[in-house]
Amino acid sequence: MACKGIIDPETTKVEVVPGIFRFLEGVTLSQVVGAAVKEKVPVFADNDARVALMGERVWGAARGLRNVVMLTLGSGLGGAALVEGRLLHGKNSVGGHLGHVTINPRGPMCVCGNKGCLEAYFSGNAIEAEARAALCRGCESPMTAAFSNRPEDLTCEEIFRWAARQDPVAAAIVNRAIEYLAAGIAGLVHIFDPEMVILGGQISLNDTVLLPTIRAEVGWRTQRLIRRPVPIVRQQLSDPSGVIGAAALAHLCCQGRAEAKSLSARDRAFSGLIEN
Ligand SMILES: [Zn+2]
Repeated sequence: MACKGIIDPETTKVEVVPGIFRFLEGVTLSQVVGAAVKEKVPVFADNDARVALMGERVWGAARGLRNVVMLTLGSGLGGAALVEGRLLHGKNSVGGHLGHVTINPRGPMCVCGNKGCLEAYFSGNAIEAEARAALCRGCESPMTAAFSNRPEDLTCEEIFRWAARQDPVAAAIVNRAIEYLAAGIAGLVHIFDPEMVILGGQISLNDTVLLPTIRAEVGWRTQRLIRRPVPIVRQQLSDPSGVIGAAALAHLCCQGRAEAKSLSARDRAFSGLIEN
């Protein structure tokens, strides 16, 4: 299973999910599945962005690679990192939550309780909030005129569409968000020195401006130390829901388990990765 938030891969318990999915906190996912499935089947679970990267590693863009950063651009901004062939978990399975890298110490409040996280600048929720704030401030453009009576309909997809039509307010909002995202990715490239950066999630599927702009921005920001263009690519598996990634997690855990029953869940996945 793939789930938002901080999941303990050993117990499949949902530890922390800020925001609208908070009701899942404390739920043990294997028990939910166990109650629904008659036969006793092993259940593996991890964070949704992490399993999306597992899917890309096994069947998608990252096949054969050992150092990969993935960001999932949706209502929030999920992240995961494959480091020296191993998925980064950290002490409490928080490792790789790249959307919560602080980009601006005085930036807007984030759902996680921090201020100025990358997710507070680039995510569906952040972009929509910025557009609605522009409406409230009375900023004038064809887009704000069209939505002045129904700000709740101003979705991220709409904002990108208006930006592509050169609406000045929409373009300013989208360009600013992309600038922050690119700066954030440049920081991640310096931290992880990856072979590839993969952008997944709904926003990456629909936009044609995003990738070229980010490649150019990240390129000049990292050229001096990295000294090579790092491929920044769209996810190859058309799987914004993470189902294929969850299948990859189970595949890796079972494969790893065959020869290493005593290992923890995260190490089983790791030994499965080595097998691949
Ligand atoms: Zn945050």
